[in-house]
Amino acid sequence: MASAGIGVVSSAGIGAVSSAGIGAVSSAGMGAVASAKIGAVGLAGTGVVSLPEILRAGVQVPVSARKIVCVGGHPDDPESGCGGTLAKLVALGHEVTIIYLTTGEAGINGVSHDEAARIRKQEAINACRVLNCKPVFAGQIDGESIVSNATLEQLQGLIGAEKPDVVFCHWPIDSHKDHQCASLLTIQTFRGLHRRADDGISSNRLR
Ligand SMILES: [Zn+2]
Repeated sequence: MASAGIGVVSSAGIGAVSSAGIGAVSSAGMGAVASAKIGAVGLAGTGVVSLPEILRAGVQVPVSARKIVCVGGHPDDPESGCGGTLAKLVALGHEVTIIYLTTGEAGINGVSHDEAARIRKQEAINACRVLNCKPVFAGQIDGESIVSNATLEQLQGLIGAEKPDVVFCHWPIDSHKDHQCASLLTIQTFRGLHRRADDGISSNRLR
């Protein structure tokens, strides 16, 4: 992980996209929140167009428990990118699931992919235990992540099963390919879920 700005990525697929004027393109920050309830779309490191109400600082309005999903490319990305925010949301009574696109197979020098995956999966499980989040592993391979209709449908199944109100993911033009894949698949998934909800279109093929 490099920096870790938090920004809104997407919601219902309506409004304009607003990029963060200040956030660096190469930032690996877990930038992203998508709200099912808010109309604008923002891509942000710091310049957020709209925030779900539960993430607005200082807002004292009582909010019912929401379902939150965070998608990261590797074990450690969600925790280092927005772990504090996730912990705070859990403490406020919201339910958080973390989906790891890969299991970090390529993340430990001198260690086989299988062994690295075993170690990093356990680390992610331990981290989720600390954060009181539910871990889910999508099963893609570190360094070999793929954006395709098949992987989109797979991630859409995992995210859709959680019925999220808010989704966090990477900045889509992050410098790491796995982070980019996680972000693009998540954004497409979220758009697909809204399309299904809005107009009955069931296909989520890339378009
Ligand atoms: Zn990563």
